[in-house]
Amino acid sequence: MTDLLILVDPEAATFELTDLRAAQLPVTDLSAHRGDGIFETVLVSKGAHGATVVSRERHFTRFRASASALDLPDPDQGLWDRVIDSLIAELAAAEPEDVEFGIRYALSRGEHGADGQFRPRGWAFPVPVDDHIRTARKQGVTAVSLDRGFDAYIGSKAPWLLIGAKTLSYAVNQAAGRHAAANNADEALFVSHDGIVLEGPTANLVIRRGDRLLTPNPDAGLLLGTTQRLIFDHAEDLGLRAEYADLRLHDVKDADGAWFVSSMRTAVALRELDGHAISVDQNLTDRFQTIVRGR
Ligand code: PLP
Repeated sequence: MTDLLILVDPEAATFELTDLRAAQLPVTDLSAHRGDGIFETVLVSKGAHGATVVSRERHFTRFRASASALDLPDPDQGLWDRVIDSLIAELAAAEPEDVEFGIRYALSRGEHGADGQFRPRGWAFPVPVDDHIRTARKQGVTAVSLDRGFDAYIGSKAPWLLIGAKTLSYAVNQAAGRHAAANNADEALFVSHDGIVLEGPTANLVIRRGDRLLTPNPDAGLLLGTTQRLIFDHAEDLGLRAEYADLRLHDVKDADGAWFVSSMRTAVALRELDGHAISVDQNLTDRFQTIVRGR
């Protein structure tokens, strides 16, 4: 994928195109050594009518909510729209055949200035839909459940935990992925300390039980997913009722279908949890993927 990067100066409301492989970020930037910032990853899907940023508005609404949770300056939607559109145009010129890719955009608290104020910094760059994602879409994944270390619904009592904000502090999520791999599983599934199923380290969980689509309540302590909501928007067309619910591990194991859903994955079947096989609903997997990719 082309090595393009857009650096954003949120205060000046300007941006410049540069080289993703060149040195860009001072180590004193608070995103680098504190993970103090926020990000989004959107899927861009190109069809006969041009490029679509899937769930663009929902991603930006969450970006703003994350900024607010971290007391970062309110991001300017017009600026970030121009950044995303410029990157898509550059990529279309460089790689016209690429019909599906992601764009990751981020806002860091930046660096301490001489005046004691922070100077935020932003950026956006493309991410490929790689073989790992393609294989998971086709073959589904296995997972192990992992204790998230807090009780469900703790977020409102402990807002400093930033539960529900998409921050750049993903070291725990990365560690969970490695822990899953060490246990011969593709993914982790976080469960609250009191046994409520939450989410994967980078995906939401959706299950089907009969004619109902169920997903964990975001207030239980997880990220409100754009992909999950896009799928829920289409539930009626699929002849299903969509609901938020408190699920336990046995609900997932006994489901008529289970999926990890996220912008880049779209929907991948969860076919095994903690060594227990789960029914795979291939028809619904295909339909979910079509809904999210828009083709
Ligand atoms: N949960 C977490 C922790 C995530 O990082 C992500 C996305 O990366 C999701 C859920 C899925 O969110 P979305 O569907 O908006 O990509």
